[in-house]
Amino acid sequence: MDNALILEISRKQFASASLDDVTFTENGDADALIKDLEHFPHAFVLGCLMDRQIQAEKAWEIPYKVFNQTRAKTIPELSSIGRDEYVRLFEKNSLHRFNEKMAAIFYGGVQDIKTKYAGNAANIWANKPSSAAVVGRFLEFEGAGPKIATMAANILVRCFKVPLFDYYSIDISADRHVKRVMTRLGLVPKNSTVEKVIYKAREISPEFPGLIDCACFETGRKWCHQGKPDCKNCELNRDCKKVID
Ligand code: SF4
Repeated sequence: MDNALILEISRKQFASASLDDVTFTENGDADALIKDLEHFPHAFVLGCLMDRQIQAEKAWEIPYKVFNQTRAKTIPELSSIGRDEYVRLFEKNSLHRFNEKMAAIFYGGVQDIKTKYAGNAANIWANKPSSAAVVGRFLEFEGAGPKIATMAANILVRCFKVPLFDYYSIDISADRHVKRVMTRLGLVPKNSTVEKVIYKAREISPEFPGLIDCACFETGRKWCHQGKPDCKNCELNRDCKKVID
């Protein structure tokens, strides 16, 4: 496949991306909390850490629910709550599919922000660090693998317009939508590994591999459905190889 179209769409999406157009949750107040990076950067970080193995909208709502239930919003307040208390809170309110494990990750995230970042999560991305530094710092949180770490960095530069020194280490987050679309486009062979998908994105957009993440993800959600793809209306139709089972 010629990469020109997906790059063109991706560049336009990146240039026009606005926080106003992003919805993290289905709850306006919870969304406002995540978007308030100036006052509650830890809500964004904790939301990222929760975003696994459940619907993304529910995961991003967890910091808001925890803040409300505990009446603690700041890192000094949140860090005074013990791990067992978080476990009880998660289990009582069924906040996640894996309540005990994710409560421990939430607790660990709060403690790390307190000790490593002087209680201010914005220090993770302060002073225009390299993308490698930001991704690496997210990876140090318990529960954050490459998918979460690169997603976090990608959202920071794309939606919050956080300045970084470079974008080289912001890889594509190879979720099911991204893998399906890249396969059907003919960019990667069927049943490719996550690593293969990541390296293909690096080949297409070396200076910012995660640039094409949004185009693939949105195409997967809007048109390239698992069942019957809506190729007629798809933005990538012109150059797509349509490798469909
Ligand atoms: S043209 Fe069809 S198969 Fe190709 S990405 Fe779009 S929806 Fe998927």
